[in-house]
Amino acid sequence: MMTRWYEKPLRIADLGAMPFKFGTVQEAVKMVERKKDLHFNAEHFGPFAYEGGERGVFYFASAVADRVPLDLLGPYLAEAHRAGIKVLIYFNVHWLALDFGRRHPDWLQLKRDGTPIDDVYGLGMSPCVNSPGYRSWSCQVIRDLARYEIDGIFLDGPIFIASGCYCSACRDKFRASFGRDLPAQEDWEDQGWRDFIEFRYRSITEYMRDSRAALKETRPEAIIYMNGQGLWPSWPNGRDNRRLAEYQDLVGAEGGFIGGDLTRESLWKPAMSAKLLETQAGGKPTVVFMAGKNCGWNHYLLTPVETELLYADTIAHGASPWYGIFYENSTGEGTQAAGRMNELIEKSSEYLERTSSIARVGLMWARRGLATTSRGSAVTSRPSPGGTSPSTCWTSRLLRRSLATMRFSSCPMWRACPMRRPAASSPGCGTGVPS
Ligand SMILES: [Zn+2]
Repeated sequence: MMTRWYEKPLRIADLGAMPFKFGTVQEAVKMVERKKDLHFNAEHFGPFAYEGGERGVFYFASAVADRVPLDLLGPYLAEAHRAGIKVLIYFNVHWLALDFGRRHPDWLQLKRDGTPIDDVYGLGMSPCVNSPGYRSWSCQVIRDLARYEIDGIFLDGPIFIASGCYCSACRDKFRASFGRDLPAQEDWEDQGWRDFIEFRYRSITEYMRDSRAALKETRPEAIIYMNGQGLWPSWPNGRDNRRLAEYQDLVGAEGGFIGGDLTRESLWKPAMSAKLLETQAGGKPTVVFMAGKNCGWNHYLLTPVETELLYADTIAHGASPWYGIFYENSTGEGTQAAGRMNELIEKSSEYLERTSSIARVGLMWARRGLATTSRGSAVTSRPSPGGTSPSTCWTSRLLRRSLATMRFSSCPMWRACPMRRPAASSPGCGTGVPS
């Protein structure tokens, strides 16, 4: 069977311009060379003027743009394709700038008291996937993008904000589906509340279905995926990777965003994320999103070793890496390490294509159980102070035993793998991890 391009190991860049504004076509096109030098073979590229969220300012022709200062997408795509880079358009569908949101009150996610949720990332609003107006607008954006030679679309979101949504569209749709009003409060003993959680999952899935259809009707060969669910409870945002996989060509999640004191961060976070995604993706390729920065500090890159560990963890567990930083930081040492890991993947792709797990032991991740026991907390992404979470501990035990018995000695991937180093000397290794 022929392997499609996105089924081969991907090395996805997201070197976003900062600020997200372009004055000339050349400003965008010049970034391609850097991505090529760093051995990326795909990217997320955002032809939007984001500033405090989506504001309707596009760098491509669209029937629904508020403003198009410059149409640069065509020349950009031509240059990226010349460099051998597949371009997936980054489209933010969960964060609206305040003034833009206020101009579209029927799009907005509302709190229980009927006021808009306006503190997204501190300051911003979020569109509701059930709003007919927003659904129509965002699908038209996708159709307009699909008129260009794009290779696909990445949707950042779609999600519910945990405190939403109580807009009229959600109220009407919930009443039609479940025969009652939206629950007035969070009460896990109440069937109405549990129906509301199910309603969120269904709503996000239906939005993804319609987004996919909008893309495929114009450009059937293009792919689509979204920022999916990682290792934290899924009910607040309404993302169910298993259902969503049907309407995606890749399945990805933020499994490599680490920050703060890295001695408190699980070394195995990307590994756990990759394995989770593999079980949910229904055989589709998986992507672990890795931030090149120490999260919380936008311009502080991870060290080369920390970067290598994220990459190695991702690759070793069958996922493709997505590496994201601001373009202006792309000459830093951490990014050079990402480039070297990309080159390693490029040279070793025959060992990475269509791999399958040889694991004999599974670790249960109970999505429904998490909804009723942990509520909103991220239970494995960060060890609790003074120790590690049960999932992290068990993952560590299993991985260390498995790695000791794997037979990869002839593979260049394994010879170069930073995980062969003693864990105690790895900056990303959490304390208190059992051996
Ligand atoms: Zn709503």
